[in-house]
Amino acid sequence: REKIIEIIGLRTSFFTDEGEIPAVDNVDFHIHEGEILGVVGESGCGKSVTSLSIMGLVPKPPGKVVGGEILLNGQNLVKLPEKKMRQIRGNEVAMIFQEPMTSLNPLFTIGHQLIEGIKIHTKLDKKKSREKAIEIMKRVGLPRTEELLDEYPHQLSGGMRQRVMIAMAMACNPKVLIADEPTTALDVTIQSQILKLMKQLNEEMNTAIMLITHDLGVVAQICERVVVMYAGKIVEEGEVQAIFKNPKHPYTEGLIKSVPDIRTKTERLYSIPGNVPKPGSIKQGCRFAERCEYAFDRCFVENPELYPVDDNGHRVRCFLHTGEEETKHAGAFTTS
Ligand code: SF4
Ligand code: MG
Repeated sequence: REKIIEIIGLRTSFFTDEGEIPAVDNVDFHIHEGEILGVVGESGCGKSVTSLSIMGLVPKPPGKVVGGEILLNGQNLVKLPEKKMRQIRGNEVAMIFQEPMTSLNPLFTIGHQLIEGIKIHTKLDKKKSREKAIEIMKRVGLPRTEELLDEYPHQLSGGMRQRVMIAMAMACNPKVLIADEPTTALDVTIQSQILKLMKQLNEEMNTAIMLITHDLGVVAQICERVVVMYAGKIVEEGEVQAIFKNPKHPYTEGLIKSVPDIRTKTERLYSIPGNVPKPGSIKQGCRFAERCEYAFDRCFVENPELYPVDDNGHRVRCFLHTGEEETKHAGAFTTS
């Protein structure tokens, strides 16, 4: 499969009184055509800044993409003037967020916002845009579409509002949909309905999806591959099944342990102790070392690279998996 998005050496920083804060620090990954890629990590890991970088929406100042390339079908978005970027946003790459209320205007009806959006992006006339709006509303499972067009955002439930946002995003048939915590504000039942909807649209329209979440349980439901981020860097990447069965990075292990079990309805039992370090605060060594139960001497002085685990693109940034014999022996723990 072709790569629809390829990110090479992306660095996005914020310039503050304390100096340059690298929020995204040399990140490489790609999304295949029609694929659903999960991007996972705690808040502050750089996942949202990565998506804003792709959209050309990093607030500047203080933010700035300071290095790397973002290729959409081979075209480098980092170099594009804002005017060109505006054509790409919405048409080729669309985005939805956690709280649709922030993206919907409370003063206008659903119909006004949906139809205006379609008119701007497709250049259809008002009547055709309205027909298109109704068609896409049905497609995303919204009921009584005619009436809904005249209602205001606050009259809708959270789940319905997110369906409206998805309808707006999908109306222009984008090649890529970036969804940043799209189900975090919703209860579990609605959450899985929205995830199913995204999967369905992905299959019907072949839209590639970058699904950003702090919850590996969400990834398990619809993603094929996953990228795990920590403190601005990718720490593990691979196929979802492989990573769930055989996580290599201690951080990923912790994330898996903290997924609540939906079948047994158990609450989240585990959370990784400690916090993500402030970007830029760790100058030396593995960024996870302070929280890692396996940390040994080398972890505090050297930066681990992304080491390949297998031939299927599974990679991990951890000295326990360098493939070098001496590292295994130097480890502070032994596996039985
Ligand atoms: Fe833990 Fe060391 Fe691996 Fe970092 S490199 S995750 S500190 S074992
Ligand atoms: Mg975020």
